[in-house]
Amino acid sequence: MRLLVIGGAGYVGSHGVRVLEGAGHEVWVYDNLSRGHRSAARADRLIVGSLHDQPLLESVLRDRQIDAVLHYAAFALVGESVGNPAMYYHNNVIGSYHLLEAMRASGVQNLIFSSTTAIFGEPEKTPIAEHFPKQPINPYGFTKLVMERMLDDYAQAYGMSFVALRYFNAAGAHPSGEIGEDHTPESHLIPIVLQVALGQREKITIYGNDYPTLDGTCIRDYIHVDDLADAHLLALDHFAPGKGLKLNLGTGRGHSVKEVIDCCRAVTGHPIQAEVGERRPGDPSALVADPTLAKKTLGWQPRYNTLLPIVETAWNWHQKHPHGYGD
Ligand code: UDP
Repeated sequence: MRLLVIGGAGYVGSHGVRVLEGAGHEVWVYDNLSRGHRSAARADRLIVGSLHDQPLLESVLRDRQIDAVLHYAAFALVGESVGNPAMYYHNNVIGSYHLLEAMRASGVQNLIFSSTTAIFGEPEKTPIAEHFPKQPINPYGFTKLVMERMLDDYAQAYGMSFVALRYFNAAGAHPSGEIGEDHTPESHLIPIVLQVALGQREKITIYGNDYPTLDGTCIRDYIHVDDLADAHLLALDHFAPGKGLKLNLGTGRGHSVKEVIDCCRAVTGHPIQAEVGERRPGDPSALVADPTLAKKTLGWQPRYNTLLPIVETAWNWHQKHPHGYGD
C-alpha cells in the first residue's frame, strides 16, 4: 500500500515506519518536526508540513496516491496538557479535523489512529478492556477521546474506515539502536531514569508514593514501540468502509515506578538515586491493558513480554545516542 505517516519522524511513528517499510509498503512521512527529528526519517521520504496545512495535506494525499494514513502526530504529555490545554486542543483536535477534511476532499478513506489509555481516566479496575467507561482526567486524554469520537462520526456519515489503537506506555527502542526516544524536555519515566545512569541528571523524582498500589507508586503497562508498530502493520488488513475498530495495546502486565527504577538499575549497573516528590497532576494510579481483543482481532502478539528486554533496548539507544538525535 502507499501510506502517509503523519508524525513519522517522532518516537512511536519512526518505529512504525521501519516496520511498514520492512513489510514492503511505500511509506511517506509527513511531520512538522516540532517534536519529531529530521534524522529519524529517510530524507527522500520526508515531507515537512503542518497538520493545519490542509491544502498541502490534500495535494500530498492526491499526488502520492495514498491508500491509507497513519496519524501519530499528537502532543502526548499529560503534565503539559494540564498546564497548556489550548496547545493540546489546537494541535490534537483541530489538527486532526484538518487531516480528516483533507482525507475527505481527496477521497482517502482509511486511517490508523494513535489513541491512548488516557481516555479511560482513573478506571475502577484493571486490566482495562475496550468497553470500560471513558472518563479522561486530563486534557490530553480528553483530546484523544474527542478524536476517537470524530472518527466514529466520520465513519458513520462519510463511509470512512479507521482503526484506533490505544497505546498504554510506549517504551524501548529499535534493537539496532539507530532510532529511539528523544524528547526535549524529557518527561517520560524510563528515559529520565536512564539519563541518571548516563550522569546527565543527579536523580529521579518519584511522583508520589501514596497511591493505592502495592508499593504506593503508580502502575503502568509498558509496551515496546516495535510491538506497537507490529499492531499498526496488522491493522492495515482491517479496514471496512463505514466501520471503525478500537483496540487496547498493552502487555497486560503492570509495573510500578519503583519496579521500573529497579529494572533500570539491573540493566545499567548504576545505583540511580531516587527521591519521592509530590504527585504529578493528572496521573491516574494504575493503567494496565487487557490486550485480549487486539490479539484476537489482529492476530497480534507482543514480542517483548517482560520489562527487562524493553529497558535493555532503551539503554542500548541511550548509550549509543546520549544526546538523542542531537538536533
Ligand atoms: N514518573 C515519575 N517521575 C518522573 C516521570 C514519570 O515518577 O520523572 C511516573 C509518572 O507519574 C507515571 C509513570 O512514571 O506514574 C509514567 O509516566 P510517563 O510520563 O512515562 O508516562 P504517562 O503514564 O504519563 O503516559
